[in-house]
Amino acid sequence: MKYKRILLKLSGEALMGSRQYGIDPARLKEYAAEIKEVVNQGVQVAIVIGGGNIFRGVAGASNGMDRVQGDYMGMLATVINSLALQSALEDEGLFSRLQTAIKMEAIAEPFIKRRAVRHLEKGRVVIFGAGTGNPYFTTDSAAVLRAIEINADVILKGTRVDGIYNADPEKDPNAVKFDHISFNECIDKNLKVMDMTAFTLSQENHLPIIVFDMNKKGNLAKVVAGENVGTTVND
Ligand code: UDP
Repeated sequence: MKYKRILLKLSGEALMGSRQYGIDPARLKEYAAEIKEVVNQGVQVAIVIGGGNIFRGVAGASNGMDRVQGDYMGMLATVINSLALQSALEDEGLFSRLQTAIKMEAIAEPFIKRRAVRHLEKGRVVIFGAGTGNPYFTTDSAAVLRAIEINADVILKGTRVDGIYNADPEKDPNAVKFDHISFNECIDKNLKVMDMTAFTLSQENHLPIIVFDMNKKGNLAKVVAGENVGTTVND
């Protein structure tokens, strides 16, 4: 395996599967199976999951809600997804721990870096919930932040497209995919890999990002093995 400790970022929307809202249990089960495959190969797996399938702070704000209030609702949405994912992982026979950036003693541990690392060393999947715990951030920023804190080798952004293209592949049939691209090229070409806060945090800390299609069976294991899947962003 090329990568020994990974931070997997999944968007909340990915959990919807073919639904318009919420969580698709079949999709959750597929993801859990993919994750199991790499854990069984000895890879240490930490996960950050979004909340966009349930609530986004900006969507609340556009309907007149206070932005900060909406962001906290969004953070709670990530905890709902985290609990669902934890349950699916346990159904697969994996051990896991949920750590949240906002204390919720009855359902999760608080985020403690050293404890998270210890769990990973023992082969437990660690899910980081409630984003960064701060409004005006995203779960992409949370993913990069946690990845740096736990010294992950790479951040794997699982999406429904198979990498970064020079144009939107869902709109432009002539769009070309990059195998590798530098952080600076992404900025020059105005390619939106993550939001700018998350992206620059990754660049400043020399943390590579791999964007890949999480919905293709076996892809996660291939990425972790170092196969040429998706697009790698690095220095
Ligand atoms: N959020 C936040 N701070 C964080 C992470 C998330 O306020 O550190 C809120 C924000 O409102 C965001 C929502 O939680 O819209 C859901 O997260 P995100 O949009 O990143 O989820 P995804 O798009 O990955 O599903």
